[in-house]
Amino acid sequence: MNFQDLKLIPPILKALTKEGYASPTPIQEQAIPAVLAGRDLFGCAQTGTGKTAAFALPILQLLHGPQEASQKRPIRALILTPTRELAIQIDDNLRAYGQFLKLRSSVIVGGVSQRAQEQALERGTDILTATPGRLIDLLNQGLVSLNQVKILVLDEADRMLDMGFIHDMKRIIAKLPAARQTLFFSATMPPEITGLVNSLLKDPVKVEI
Ligand code: AMP
Repeated sequence: MNFQDLKLIPPILKALTKEGYASPTPIQEQAIPAVLAGRDLFGCAQTGTGKTAAFALPILQLLHGPQEASQKRPIRALILTPTRELAIQIDDNLRAYGQFLKLRSSVIVGGVSQRAQEQALERGTDILTATPGRLIDLLNQGLVSLNQVKILVLDEADRMLDMGFIHDMKRIIAKLPAARQTLFFSATMPPEITGLVNSLLKDPVKVEI
């Protein structure tokens, strides 16, 4: 199988060629068509399997379109991930895969000045990658609006639980429209994860790698 078979659009295929990706990994083969079809997804997969591209590529494709030209840029995809390093890596990947599209992506993480992040939000961003703690701070200050989010990604959900982010995650998710697509990734399946999956996902496609 190659990326063309997954019905990815030419500007994304061009970026993948430039990045030197020859063919999709197993999780990408299974996840990309399901996400493009608008399905919720539960991916049981470790880092290193190519799971970032498995959600990033179809998100870019789903958001790509006439909205890009508009001045108003509500956040339409929110990616929650446990650490600053992962958030930056995901955003770097989004920028690489979306280099021939006009979508905007931003990162909100703790441990650095909030000001630059506020400015990026003021300019408007289509895709926001965030760690839960700093995102809650900005929500509490009324600096970020999530009421136009169409796609939510919970990346490394088990690690977010281990790091004590469950309350922040639930408070963030409560701010999102109920009518949305949710993509949930976890390397392990403890009972708390099963509970979250059952409460957040509607008829999900399950991908285990
Ligand atoms: P991840 O599991 O998302 O952290 O990805 C692991 C690494 O594999 C990253 O460095 C990606 O850039 C790379 N990668 C992801 N998908 C592919 C692919 N289809 N072909 C080659 N490299 C890939």
